Order: sequence, then structure tokens, then C-alpha cells
Amino acid sequence: MLSKVLKTFSSRTPFRQMSSGPSTEPNFLEMVNMYFDKAAKHTDIKPEVLELIKTCDTVLRVTLPLKKDDGSIKYYKAYRAQHSHHRLPCKGGTRYALDVDLNEVEALSFLMTLKCACVNLPFGGGKGGITVDPKTLSLGERERLTRRYALELSKKGFLSPAADVPGPDLGTGELEMAWMMDTYKSLNPTNLNAVACTTGKPLEMGGIPGRAESTGLGLYYALREFLRDKKYTDKVELPTGINGKKVIVQGFGNVGYWACHFLQKDGAKILGVIEPSGSVFNENGIDVDDLKAFMIQHKTLKGYPKAELVENGQEVFTRKTDIIIPAAVERSVHGSNAPNFNCKILAEGANGPTTPLGEEALEKKGVLVLPDLLMNAGGVTVSFFEYVKNLGHIKPGLLTKRWQGKRNRSIIEAIATLKGISHEELEAKSADWKKLAEGASELDLVYSGLEQIMSEAVQETKETSERLGVNLRIAAYVNSLQRIDDATLKGTIGL
Ligand code: GLU
Repeated sequence: MLSKVLKTFSSRTPFRQMSSGPSTEPNFLEMVNMYFDKAAKHTDIKPEVLELIKTCDTVLRVTLPLKKDDGSIKYYKAYRAQHSHHRLPCKGGTRYALDVDLNEVEALSFLMTLKCACVNLPFGGGKGGITVDPKTLSLGERERLTRRYALELSKKGFLSPAADVPGPDLGTGELEMAWMMDTYKSLNPTNLNAVACTTGKPLEMGGIPGRAESTGLGLYYALREFLRDKKYTDKVELPTGINGKKVIVQGFGNVGYWACHFLQKDGAKILGVIEPSGSVFNENGIDVDDLKAFMIQHKTLKGYPKAELVENGQEVFTRKTDIIIPAAVERSVHGSNAPNFNCKILAEGANGPTTPLGEEALEKKGVLVLPDLLMNAGGVTVSFFEYVKNLGHIKPGLLTKRWQGKRNRSIIEAIATLKGISHEELEAKSADWKKLAEGASELDLVYSGLEQIMSEAVQETKETSERLGVNLRIAAYVNSLQRIDDATLKGTIGL
């Protein structure tokens, strides 16, 4: 039940008022450009190709009229950026928030290009959104606005399985993805692949199990990979493993909650949760599932009886912990707050949470920064699985499930016979026996594919970081640039 509610839980929160970086620091797009330029120096990619990779390919800006429930008409600004066409379709989320503007959408689409390349997904980057607080819309208004947005995107080539495939982001969820897909489908009734024009849809409408938790789970897999490596844990003077690690998270929406859920399950202790509606802290740990249920019921963390309420969320950032996960909005870790952090590892769940000055301050303190391109790529990775499932018109694993189960059963029975174990004993002793004999479920395959992609990308990023002597963020950018260059650009523009 809880997971069902979470799937549609809108995570847009006014974090920006609470903690966005000072205006003296570079804006979001400038910030991504700075990291890009720094990484580019470590490649031998030609300047003209670098310029092409850096430039946002196409943007759309439209005004959407909406007939409100009371009969009045309101207008909303909406955007979609297709950052790179080096691979198609473009892929990236759809954000509904008051601060959505062209600069943000462009920066986020740039990060999508880099992120997809970083974890080796065959997509260009895209991102879109509407400048609206979704909480001010009724369900009917939300549907009408979303369908109008999808109509404009479709007409202008910004929504289709071949060119541009939006997914969810802050303030949107599976309902929006279903409405957008349905609008596209009614405009293109003969397109056999129409259902693949969005991802993050409800399961009954072509979605895939595991999409809701995928970004948080991906972060967990990547963090676990780093914490298994003694070289990295020694650097920050921590023992290896997730078990016993203390965590503070900023943002308790889809990404923050699910990351904490999986970390807690593996023995980590969640000490603090920072939210604009009130932040909570408990030295002995907070049960995040209990806290989430409270938040859904009360729409705030205020009044949660099992932790101390801290009015100023920024103060929670300064408490002693092993890991901080910024999982809210961009630029929330910056030159003014980062010097006061008291942690060993920063694992970026949000897109672009750390400004260059923030990173400099953390590195001075010896904090290991695990970059967004890698850490939050789980969402788009599972979107990729959904997209492939839609194009294939078949559930992953359907053809092999029964065969695999029978084969597992035969292997186990053969071993049991050799060892002289009776069938009854086997049933009694092996809890996994039944599961093995069933073959992999769709969810098993999604989790396994995600784990594989995240682990590989972590290894590649570590290798580049060690080879070039650069931090992990620059290594992730270098790997992405190299992949974009190698994959297509050389051929495309004949350089
Ligand atoms: N919003 C997700 C992200 O920032 C991706 C959405 C999608 O699956 O396309 O990575």
C-alpha cells in the first residue's frame, strides 16, 4: 500500500527558498558548463566537437492555456529541451514546479546527455517542464494541463518514441506519464510503438515494476560499490560496508526516501531528514518507512514523535554523520553551507546539487564526493528497460522464466540426489528452493539489470579517476564525453 501511494506522491517542495546557492555563485547552466570545461581538458576531443557536445540542440517554449474548474482561463509557460541528438530518442524527465525556466531545463537536459552516456544508455539528453505548482491544481486541471502540454510537444516533434521520450521528474509521476502517452496515442492511432513515447507509466499501461524506487535503489547500489572498496573507505577513514553507516538526507521525495529505505534495509542508520516543512533528527536512527507513512498522513514532518524537530534544516547539515545525500534540487550544497558539513561522503541524489565552490569546500575537508551523473542514473536506467519492453511488446523474461525455473529445479534435484538429500529435507532446509524453481520475475530482472549497469559505471568512473588523477565528478564527465565522441559525433559531422 505504502509503495502504491509513493508512486504518485508529488515530491515538489520549496527547497529553493530554503537552501539554494547564493546568487554570487554560477547559475545552474554555468555550473554544468564549468564542470564540462574542466573535464574537457583531460580529453583529446577536438574543440569543434566539444562545442557541438556542449551546445543544446533544440528548445521549445510554449504557453499553455488551461480552463480552471471555476471556468476562468489561466496561462502557463512550458518548455522542453532536446540537448543532444547524437543518439535518439532524447530522454529525460518532466518537471512541474514554480521555478521551472529555460535555463533550468537546458541545464537539466545537458546533465541527461552526460548521465545517459556515463552509464552507457543509448539516448540523447532531454528535459521539460511546466512553470506551475502542481499542488494548486485539481486532478482534472492537472490532467487537462498535461494533455495540452503533450499535444504541443507532439505537434512540434518533442514527444514520440523515435525522437523524444519524457519520463517523470519533480512534481510529476505515473499519472502524468499515462496522460501524455494517451494523448500521443490518440494523435497517432496507427503507431504500433506509441506506448513507448513516455516512461514511468503505471504498470497496467505499459510501465515496468521497479521504476518508482529505481533512482534511490541505483544510488544504493552505487554507494555500496564504493563502500566495498577499501581504497575509498580508507581515504575517508571509514570501515567498509553499508552496515552501521550514519546517513543524513536532504529531500524525502521519491529519490531520498527510497535511497534511505534500501540503505536502512542493509544496516545503515538514518539520523536526519531535511524537508522544507520541517526537519527531523535522531542520534539513534529514524525508521524511514514509519517516517514516510507519517509524512503522507500529515503532509509534514512536523509533529513526528520519534525524532527531534529542527526548525532550520541547514543546521541538520552540520550534524556529525558519515554520509550526506542531497536529494532535493540543484545548488543546495554551496560555498556558504558546505564548509560547515560534518560528513565523510556526499552522495548526490539530486541533479546538480553541488556548486563548484561547494565541492571545493568539501574536498578541502577531505569529503569524498560521489557525483550525480553516476549516483542518480538509476531512474533513467529503469526507464530504458521500460522503453525496450514497450518496443519489444513483451514482458522481460517471459520467454525464459519457466524454462529457467525447470532447469534450476533439475540442477537442485540432481545435487540433492547425489548428496542423498530427500525432497522433503530439501523443502525444509532451503528457503530459496521454491523461488529458484520459479525463475526470475520481471522485478528480479529489473533489479539485476540496474545493479549490473550501476556497478559497471562505478568501476569505469573509478578507473578513469585513478588513471587521470582527477576527482570522481570530472572522471564521470570525461567518460561521458569520450563515449559521446566515440559513439557517433566523429561520423556524424565528419571530423
Ligand atoms: N528524472 C530522471 C532523471 O533526472 C529521468 C527521467 C526519465 O526516466 O527519463 O534522471
